[in-house]
Amino acid sequence: MEKIGLDERIVEVEKISFDEQGEISLRPSIWEDYIGQEQIKKNLQIFIQACKKRQECLDHILFFGPPGLGKTTLSHIIASEMGADIKVTAAPMIEKSGDLAAILTNLNEGDILFIDEIHRLSPAIEEILYPAMEDFRLDIIIGSGPAAQSVKIDIAKFTLIGATTRAGMLSNPLRDRFGMNFRMQFYSTEELARILTIASLKLQKPLSTEGAHEIARRSRGTPRIALRLLKRVRDFADVAEENEISFTRAQFALSELGVNEHGFDELDLRYLRILAENQGKPIGLSTLAAAMSEDESTIEDVIEPYLLTHGYFERTAKGRVATAKTFELFGGIKRSLF
Ligand code: ADP
Repeated sequence: MEKIGLDERIVEVEKISFDEQGEISLRPSIWEDYIGQEQIKKNLQIFIQACKKRQECLDHILFFGPPGLGKTTLSHIIASEMGADIKVTAAPMIEKSGDLAAILTNLNEGDILFIDEIHRLSPAIEEILYPAMEDFRLDIIIGSGPAAQSVKIDIAKFTLIGATTRAGMLSNPLRDRFGMNFRMQFYSTEELARILTIASLKLQKPLSTEGAHEIARRSRGTPRIALRLLKRVRDFADVAEENEISFTRAQFALSELGVNEHGFDELDLRYLRILAENQGKPIGLSTLAAAMSEDESTIEDVIEPYLLTHGYFERTAKGRVATAKTFELFGGIKRSLF
């Protein structure tokens, strides 16, 4: 796992770092390389500056938004800016209250604790987090029945950064304990093209302006998808011995990869086709999941956010309904409805 601490702070853009798979890391480590999310960046920079001035710990932060939009990356940059160590974990890895207690008691003053998928913490574990976030204290019950004893342990002042794909699934008491809430936005094609251009330089495989635009346009507003496509398009260019990735190469590679004109892959198209074939009648999430042989969470977290934001379907009390845009996509089936 990439770890950015005080002494390992990466400040030079040219410095190449590697990810856990030993590949060149495309994760930006400074504000300048973190493209887009301007309002969030502006606010965070002010809060960080203020806290540094007062020599205080940063308030707890909650990021929400679909996967791949840069929540983890932003957390690493915050840690680096604060000159703090960051410990990264995910809610499904915290099974017992003892797991969380061990993490919390091992934190040093000013450390950042990043918990991904924080909406998946069990209620019992959330209970432990409340006094830890509010008073930097652990209230632990030892034993059970009449002999049970409550033990209070002070812990170091730390900043919790929680990331979630589902704001709605977070309990109110937990949400209320975050001093800052930020909703991540999908990226524009121009922003993604800039991310791709910076990444292509790190990969030492230049990308033409048109090539960058073409990959960006088909990346569903998501940097993780854009970077994944870039790596695959680079494979095509390498095999063809093309030094700079051209528009034509990008276009050819993307269609070979099954990414269509709109950036939809096979999964998106299956989802939309089911909605379109239902002739404008609402379909429930569980029916959709069964029809697609996918988890409900994959549908809600990965497939739906982009399609919903871009108006391909609507959510009603009775279920999901295709919009005119989706009928259009499949050659106007059920156009008569509109
Ligand atoms: P999340 O935590 O929201 O799932 P990540 O922070 O892991 O997303 O981001 C996915 C990848 O996309 C990272 O490896 C990073 O390189 C890239 N990335 C995300 N946001 C940005 C951004 N704003 N600028 C440049 N690269 C980004």
